[in-house]
Amino acid sequence: MTKIRTRIAPSPTGFLHLGTARTALYSWAYARHHGGEFVLRIEDTDVARSSDESVQQILDSMAWLGLDYDAGPIYQMQRLARYHEVIERMLAEGSAYRCWCTPEELDAMREAQRARGEKTHYDGRWRPEPGKTLPPVPDGVEPVVRLRNPRSGVVSWDDLVKGPITIANQEFDDLIILRPDLVPTYNFAVVVDDWDMGITHVFRGDEHINNTPWQINLFKALGAPLPQFGHCPIILGDDGLKLSKRRGAVSVTAYEDAGYLPEAMLNYLARLGWSHGDEELFTRAQMVEWFDGSHLAKSPAQWDPAKLAWVNAHYMKQADDARLAKLAQARLLERGIDADELDLLARAAALFKDRCSTVVELADWIAMMFIDPKPRAEDLQAHVGEAVKPALRQLHEDFARIAWDKTSIAAALKAALAAFGLKMPQLAPALRVLVCGRVQTPSIDAVLALFPRETVRERLRDV
Ligand code: GLU
Repeated sequence: MTKIRTRIAPSPTGFLHLGTARTALYSWAYARHHGGEFVLRIEDTDVARSSDESVQQILDSMAWLGLDYDAGPIYQMQRLARYHEVIERMLAEGSAYRCWCTPEELDAMREAQRARGEKTHYDGRWRPEPGKTLPPVPDGVEPVVRLRNPRSGVVSWDDLVKGPITIANQEFDDLIILRPDLVPTYNFAVVVDDWDMGITHVFRGDEHINNTPWQINLFKALGAPLPQFGHCPIILGDDGLKLSKRRGAVSVTAYEDAGYLPEAMLNYLARLGWSHGDEELFTRAQMVEWFDGSHLAKSPAQWDPAKLAWVNAHYMKQADDARLAKLAQARLLERGIDADELDLLARAAALFKDRCSTVVELADWIAMMFIDPKPRAEDLQAHVGEAVKPALRQLHEDFARIAWDKTSIAAALKAALAAFGLKMPQLAPALRVLVCGRVQTPSIDAVLALFPRETVRERLRDV
């Protein structure tokens, strides 16, 4: 049996888009499910728009998501000699031909077609036919190479996502496959690469569905085996329009920056366009076990930030405290807080992670240990009234003497309640507001025990 090989082939003209990350995930999972291989190819033939920074972003995002590849990154611009070899072969065999039309000539051709009310198309003036005399080769014009696309018949394939698709060849021009600067066009390079790399399954966004017939005809012209294609619908923003930069974050990096965990992104992206029964939360291993190319959604999925936050909150709870400590530490450093005690951060993570949707929120919680909490005036007014102040003053004293741990702090609080005739719902909010700058926190004795004793006393001093 042929080895399953899939690929992701981003163009390095920006960040790794969420849609590309999703097809990368499907391609990766499909290969892993079948014990096959997954290839990363960088499609950098758009030289003007490609950049090294973008390549780096793509590699970083793939690494962050944990989408490991068995081959690559392979750069198309390093394969020009191979493309030229295939072009020469096609020219020799007659499945491609040179065309010396200038851009002005093509403009005039289209203009005339429009004037006649026709759909614009290349009229095939350089396409060799038996008995046809071709125009004389003009001086000073670099030719392009075009695919000699069949003029009749249809192109059909059974799309893994959309089902059977058939398109008449008449719909298609003789595609340019090599530009005058000798750089191949996308459709040609993709086919030579997929062929050379033994790609068996192509998952990609359905914006490419119109390219597929040309690609199939190229595979056929080369006598190369056809991969199977699966075209995934676009991702819609929460406003129902195409997810785009103008309407929120569309790059993997943006979500990393916003404090999402890679396993949550993978889980969320996987569900966005694929399902396994009613499962909403699953591990990478489960995804690999379940992802067999079936149950891919035909209709576009809608990006749902609230659901992503819910998925992330789930993984925050599951995450190892030491790992969260490191992630939070980096965030704190960005805010100028040099929190070097990882043990302390891990204890804080254990206490706060259940309340956090993102690492950024966790860092917000932990930051209150290091910076002035700045209680809001209305919270002070509502929760730090005259009734609790004597108890707070007493605690300020007691906290200097007791052992600094949760049990001893709890005992001191209990004693203060008894001594001043208060209830916990009066005392705890006052402590929370003064020490943490918030009205809601996890259990107050546990929170206080996390802080250095002197920090707590300092924040209770001026009551
Ligand atoms: N470079 C193309 C893109 O980024 C790849 C499409 C494909 O997978 O064939 O959209």
